[in-house]
Amino acid sequence: MRYELEPDNRNCPDDVLLDDLRAIAVRLGKATLTKDEYNKNGRFSAATMQNRFGSWNNALLQSNLSVGKRNSIPRQELLSDLRQVAERLGTKIVSVEAYGTMGTFSAPTISKAFGSWSKALAAAGLKVSSMWHPKANDDELLSNLATVWETLGGQPKQNDLRQPLSRFSADTYKRRFGSWRKALEFFVENTADGPPSTISTEPSIAIGDITPSSPEKHRTQRDPSWRLRFLVNRRDRFTCRACGRSPANEVGVVLHVDHIDPWSKGGETTLENLQTLCEKCNLGKSDLPMYENEG
Ligand SMILES: [Zn+2]
Repeated sequence: MRYELEPDNRNCPDDVLLDDLRAIAVRLGKATLTKDEYNKNGRFSAATMQNRFGSWNNALLQSNLSVGKRNSIPRQELLSDLRQVAERLGTKIVSVEAYGTMGTFSAPTISKAFGSWSKALAAAGLKVSSMWHPKANDDELLSNLATVWETLGGQPKQNDLRQPLSRFSADTYKRRFGSWRKALEFFVENTADGPPSTISTEPSIAIGDITPSSPEKHRTQRDPSWRLRFLVNRRDRFTCRACGRSPANEVGVVLHVDHIDPWSKGGETTLENLQTLCEKCNLGKSDLPMYENEG
Protein backbone atom coordinates (compact mmCIF):
# COMPACT_ATOMS: atom_id res chain seq x y z
CA MET A 1 0.00 0.00 0.00
CA ARG A 2 1.23 3.45 -0.87
CA TYR A 3 0.77 6.30 1.52
CA GLU A 4 0.01 9.43 -0.37
CA LEU A 5 -0.80 12.79 1.03
CA GLU A 6 -3.50 14.68 -0.70
CA PRO A 7 -2.28 17.84 -2.40
CA ASP A 8 -1.69 20.69 0.01
CA ASN A 9 -4.52 22.96 -1.00
CA ARG A 10 -3.22 25.86 1.00
CA ASN A 11 -0.65 26.52 -1.70
CA CYS A 12 -3.11 26.18 -4.52
CA PRO A 13 -3.94 29.51 -6.22
CA ASP A 14 -7.48 30.85 -5.99
CA ASP A 15 -7.95 30.53 -9.73
CA VAL A 16 -7.33 26.81 -9.68
CA LEU A 17 -9.97 26.35 -7.02
CA LEU A 18 -12.51 28.52 -8.83
CA ASP A 19 -11.75 26.81 -12.15
CA ASP A 20 -12.49 23.47 -10.59
CA LEU A 21 -15.82 24.74 -9.24
CA ARG A 22 -16.81 25.96 -12.68
CA ALA A 23 -15.62 22.75 -14.32
CA ILE A 24 -17.77 20.60 -12.05
CA ALA A 25 -20.80 22.82 -12.61
CA VAL A 26 -20.32 22.55 -16.36
CA ARG A 27 -19.85 18.80 -16.19
CA LEU A 28 -23.07 18.40 -14.17
CA GLY A 29 -24.85 20.92 -16.38
CA LYS A 30 -25.80 23.13 -13.43
CA ALA A 31 -25.75 26.86 -12.76
CA THR A 32 -25.07 26.34 -9.10
CA LEU A 33 -23.56 23.61 -6.93
CA THR A 34 -24.31 22.30 -3.50
CA LYS A 35 -21.46 21.38 -1.24
CA ASP A 36 -22.46 17.73 -1.51
CA GLU A 37 -22.32 17.82 -5.29
CA TYR A 38 -18.92 19.41 -5.16
CA ASN A 39 -17.60 17.04 -2.53
CA LYS A 40 -18.60 14.06 -4.67
CA ASN A 41 -17.20 15.39 -7.92
CA GLY A 42 -14.67 18.08 -7.15
CA ARG A 43 -10.93 17.89 -6.91
CA PHE A 44 -10.90 19.73 -3.59
CA SER A 45 -13.40 19.82 -0.78
CA ALA A 46 -16.22 22.24 -0.12
CA ALA A 47 -14.53 23.02 3.21
CA THR A 48 -11.41 24.13 1.37
CA MET A 49 -13.51 26.45 -0.75
CA GLN A 50 -15.20 27.90 2.29
CA ASN A 51 -11.94 28.45 4.11
CA ARG A 52 -10.42 30.13 1.12
CA PHE A 53 -13.33 32.34 0.10
CA GLY A 54 -14.99 32.91 3.42
CA SER A 55 -18.12 31.00 2.58
CA TRP A 56 -19.51 28.54 0.11
CA ASN A 57 -21.71 31.16 -1.49
CA ASN A 58 -18.76 33.49 -1.93
CA ALA A 59 -16.88 30.76 -3.72
CA LEU A 60 -19.85 30.26 -6.01
CA LEU A 61 -20.14 33.96 -6.67
CA GLN A 62 -16.44 34.35 -7.41
CA SER A 63 -16.56 31.55 -9.93
CA ASN A 64 -19.55 33.24 -11.57
CA LEU A 65 -21.94 30.51 -10.55
CA SER A 66 -25.25 31.38 -9.06
CA VAL A 67 -26.06 31.03 -5.42
CA GLY A 68 -28.61 28.38 -4.56
CA LYS A 69 -32.10 29.42 -3.57
CA ARG A 70 -32.26 30.27 0.09
CA ASN A 71 -35.15 28.02 0.98
CA SER A 72 -33.35 25.11 -0.58
CA ILE A 73 -30.31 25.37 1.64
CA PRO A 74 -29.99 22.15 3.61
CA ARG A 75 -30.19 22.60 7.35
CA GLN A 76 -26.80 20.98 7.77
CA GLU A 77 -25.30 23.69 5.64
CA LEU A 78 -26.90 26.40 7.73
CA LEU A 79 -25.61 24.77 10.89
CA SER A 80 -22.09 24.35 9.65
CA ASP A 81 -22.03 27.98 8.60
CA LEU A 82 -23.20 28.97 12.08
CA ARG A 83 -20.44 26.87 13.58
CA GLN A 84 -17.87 28.42 11.31
CA VAL A 85 -18.84 31.90 12.38
CA ALA A 86 -18.62 30.80 16.01
CA GLU A 87 -15.18 29.40 15.34
CA ARG A 88 -13.98 32.57 13.69
CA LEU A 89 -15.35 34.57 16.61
CA GLY A 90 -13.73 32.19 19.04
CA THR A 91 -16.96 31.94 20.98
CA LYS A 92 -19.80 29.54 21.59
CA ILE A 93 -22.37 32.30 21.43
CA VAL A 94 -23.25 33.86 18.09
CA SER A 95 -25.54 36.85 18.12
CA VAL A 96 -27.86 37.65 15.26
CA GLU A 97 -25.85 40.81 14.69
CA ALA A 98 -22.52 38.99 14.55
CA TYR A 99 -23.92 36.42 12.18
CA GLY A 100 -25.35 39.16 10.02
CA THR A 101 -21.89 40.55 9.36
CA MET A 102 -19.96 37.29 9.16
CA GLY A 103 -22.36 34.61 8.03
CA THR A 104 -23.06 33.33 4.56
CA PHE A 105 -26.81 33.37 4.87
CA SER A 106 -29.12 35.78 6.61
CA ALA A 107 -30.05 35.34 10.25
CA PRO A 108 -33.78 35.30 9.44
CA THR A 109 -33.16 32.47 6.97
CA ILE A 110 -31.59 30.45 9.74
CA SER A 111 -34.21 31.37 12.33
CA LYS A 112 -36.91 30.36 9.90
CA ALA A 113 -35.35 27.00 9.15
CA PHE A 114 -35.09 26.07 12.81
CA GLY A 115 -38.03 27.90 14.29
CA SER A 116 -35.94 30.46 16.11
CA TRP A 117 -32.43 31.76 16.45
CA SER A 118 -31.84 30.07 19.76
CA LYS A 119 -33.09 26.75 18.41
CA ALA A 120 -30.62 27.07 15.56
CA LEU A 121 -27.82 27.77 18.03
CA ALA A 122 -28.83 24.76 20.06
CA ALA A 123 -28.99 22.57 16.94
CA ALA A 124 -25.49 23.70 16.01
CA GLY A 125 -24.24 22.71 19.45
CA LEU A 126 -23.62 26.33 20.34
CA LYS A 127 -24.68 28.20 23.41
CA VAL A 128 -27.64 30.45 23.74
CA SER A 129 -26.53 33.75 25.20
CA SER A 130 -27.31 33.76 28.89
CA MET A 131 -27.76 37.50 28.90
CA TRP A 132 -30.43 37.42 26.28
CA HIS A 133 -32.02 34.24 27.57
CA PRO A 134 -31.71 34.43 31.30
CA LYS A 135 -33.49 31.97 33.48
CA ALA A 136 -36.24 34.40 34.22
CA ASN A 137 -39.15 33.59 36.42
CA ASP A 138 -42.70 34.30 35.33
CA ASP A 139 -42.80 37.46 37.38
CA GLU A 140 -39.85 38.92 35.55
CA LEU A 141 -41.19 37.86 32.19
CA LEU A 142 -44.61 39.35 32.81
CA SER A 143 -43.24 42.51 34.35
CA ASN A 144 -40.94 42.93 31.35
CA LEU A 145 -43.86 42.39 29.01
CA ALA A 146 -45.76 45.05 30.92
CA THR A 147 -42.92 47.50 30.43
CA VAL A 148 -42.83 46.82 26.71
CA TRP A 149 -46.59 47.04 26.40
CA GLU A 150 -46.81 50.31 28.29
CA THR A 151 -43.91 51.85 26.44
CA LEU A 152 -45.35 50.97 23.05
CA GLY A 153 -48.81 51.96 24.18
CA GLY A 154 -50.26 48.79 22.73
CA GLN A 155 -49.91 45.09 22.20
CA PRO A 156 -46.28 44.25 21.39
CA LYS A 157 -45.38 42.20 18.36
CA GLN A 158 -42.69 39.58 18.60
CA ASN A 159 -40.32 41.90 16.79
CA ASP A 160 -40.76 44.51 19.47
CA LEU A 161 -39.09 42.24 22.00
CA ARG A 162 -35.64 43.62 21.41
CA GLN A 163 -33.12 45.33 23.58
CA PRO A 164 -33.11 47.86 25.06
CA LEU A 165 -36.89 47.92 25.21
CA SER A 166 -37.16 44.29 26.24
CA ARG A 167 -34.86 42.29 28.44
CA PHE A 168 -36.13 39.03 26.98
CA SER A 169 -36.70 37.81 23.47
CA ALA A 170 -39.98 36.56 22.09
CA ASP A 171 -38.39 33.11 22.03
CA THR A 172 -38.08 33.14 25.79
CA TYR A 173 -41.81 33.80 26.08
CA LYS A 174 -42.67 31.13 23.54
CA ARG A 175 -40.61 28.58 25.41
CA ARG A 176 -42.22 29.45 28.69
CA PHE A 177 -45.83 29.82 27.61
CA GLY A 178 -46.04 27.59 24.56
CA SER A 179 -46.58 30.32 22.01
CA TRP A 180 -46.40 34.08 21.69
CA ARG A 181 -50.19 34.24 21.68
CA LYS A 182 -50.43 32.19 24.86
CA ALA A 183 -47.91 34.45 26.56
CA LEU A 184 -49.99 37.48 25.64
CA GLU A 185 -53.18 35.78 26.80
CA PHE A 186 -51.65 34.78 30.10
CA PHE A 187 -50.39 38.31 30.58
CA VAL A 188 -53.72 39.92 29.78
CA GLU A 189 -55.69 37.50 31.96
CA ASN A 190 -53.51 38.24 34.92
CA THR A 191 -53.32 41.96 34.53
CA ALA A 192 -56.93 42.72 33.71
CA ASP A 193 -58.39 45.40 35.93
CA GLY A 194 -60.30 43.85 38.76
CA PRO A 195 -59.43 41.23 41.32
CA PRO A 196 -56.62 38.85 40.48
CA SER A 197 -58.34 35.77 39.18
CA THR A 198 -56.53 32.75 37.86
CA ILE A 199 -53.10 33.50 39.22
CA SER A 200 -53.25 30.89 41.96
CA THR A 201 -53.91 28.12 39.44
CA GLU A 202 -50.52 28.74 37.90
CA PRO A 203 -48.03 26.84 40.02
CA SER A 204 -44.95 28.76 38.95
CA ILE A 205 -46.56 31.99 40.03
CA ALA A 206 -48.14 30.63 43.15
CA ILE A 207 -44.86 29.23 44.44
CA GLY A 208 -43.24 32.62 44.18
CA ASP A 209 -46.07 34.12 46.17
CA ILE A 210 -45.77 31.79 49.09
CA THR A 211 -43.24 33.34 51.38
CA PRO A 212 -43.06 32.83 55.11
CA SER A 213 -44.70 35.81 56.69
CA SER A 214 -45.26 36.85 60.24
CA PRO A 215 -49.01 36.67 60.62
CA GLU A 216 -48.88 38.06 64.12
CA LYS A 217 -47.29 41.28 62.89
CA HIS A 218 -48.42 41.58 59.26
CA ARG A 219 -51.73 41.30 57.53
CA THR A 220 -50.06 40.91 54.13
CA GLN A 221 -47.43 38.59 52.72
CA ARG A 222 -43.96 39.94 52.23
CA ASP A 223 -43.66 39.28 48.50
CA PRO A 224 -46.15 41.18 46.38
CA SER A 225 -48.05 39.10 43.86
CA TRP A 226 -47.16 39.52 40.25
CA ARG A 227 -50.30 41.57 39.74
CA LEU A 228 -49.56 43.94 42.60
CA ARG A 229 -46.04 44.32 41.31
CA PHE A 230 -47.42 45.23 37.94
CA LEU A 231 -49.76 47.80 39.45
CA VAL A 232 -46.88 49.39 41.35
CA ASN A 233 -44.68 49.44 38.25
CA ARG A 234 -47.46 50.87 36.14
CA ARG A 235 -48.27 53.59 38.66
CA ASP A 236 -44.58 54.52 38.68
CA ARG A 237 -44.44 54.42 34.88
CA PHE A 238 -41.89 51.59 34.95
CA THR A 239 -39.30 54.02 36.20
CA CYS A 240 -37.08 53.88 39.26
CA ARG A 241 -38.45 56.38 41.73
CA ALA A 242 -35.01 57.15 43.07
CA CYS A 243 -32.86 57.62 39.99
CA GLY A 244 -35.41 57.78 37.16
CA ARG A 245 -33.88 55.00 35.10
CA SER A 246 -36.17 52.71 33.13
CA PRO A 247 -35.66 49.46 31.26
CA ALA A 248 -37.68 51.09 28.49
CA ASN A 249 -34.69 53.13 27.42
CA GLU A 250 -31.67 51.57 29.06
CA VAL A 251 -30.25 48.09 28.74
CA GLY A 252 -29.75 46.21 31.96
CA VAL A 253 -32.06 48.22 34.18
CA VAL A 254 -34.01 45.80 36.33
CA LEU A 255 -36.98 47.06 38.27
CA HIS A 256 -37.70 45.89 41.77
CA VAL A 257 -40.70 46.57 43.90
CA ASP A 258 -39.64 47.89 47.26
CA HIS A 259 -41.38 48.38 50.59
CA ILE A 260 -41.32 52.11 51.47
CA ASP A 261 -41.86 51.27 55.12
CA PRO A 262 -39.56 48.29 55.43
CA TRP A 263 -41.27 44.96 55.88
CA SER A 264 -38.96 44.20 58.78
CA LYS A 265 -40.27 47.30 60.56
CA GLY A 266 -43.91 46.42 60.11
CA GLY A 267 -44.49 47.86 56.63
CA GLU A 268 -47.25 46.13 54.70
CA THR A 269 -47.29 44.82 51.15
CA THR A 270 -49.81 47.26 49.78
CA LEU A 271 -49.91 49.48 46.73
CA GLU A 272 -49.44 52.56 48.92
CA ASN A 273 -46.42 51.12 50.71
CA LEU A 274 -44.68 49.84 47.60
CA GLN A 275 -42.56 51.69 45.10
CA THR A 276 -40.59 50.97 41.97
CA LEU A 277 -36.84 51.04 42.39
CA CYS A 278 -34.16 49.83 40.04
CA GLU A 279 -32.03 46.96 41.24
CA LYS A 280 -29.08 49.24 42.04
CA CYS A 281 -31.07 51.74 44.04
CA ASN A 282 -32.96 48.96 45.80
CA LEU A 283 -29.85 47.06 46.82
CA GLY A 284 -28.28 50.30 47.96
CA LYS A 285 -31.31 51.16 50.01
CA SER A 286 -31.75 47.78 51.66
CA ASP A 287 -33.69 48.02 54.89
CA LEU A 288 -33.24 51.73 55.50
CA PRO A 289 -36.30 53.93 55.25
CA MET A 290 -36.55 56.06 52.13
CA TYR A 291 -36.16 59.37 53.96
CA GLU A 292 -34.04 60.15 56.97
CA ASN A 293 -36.88 61.47 59.08
CA GLU A 294 -38.84 58.29 58.61
CA GLY A 295 -38.81 54.99 60.42
ZN1 LIG B 1 -32.59 53.63 40.53
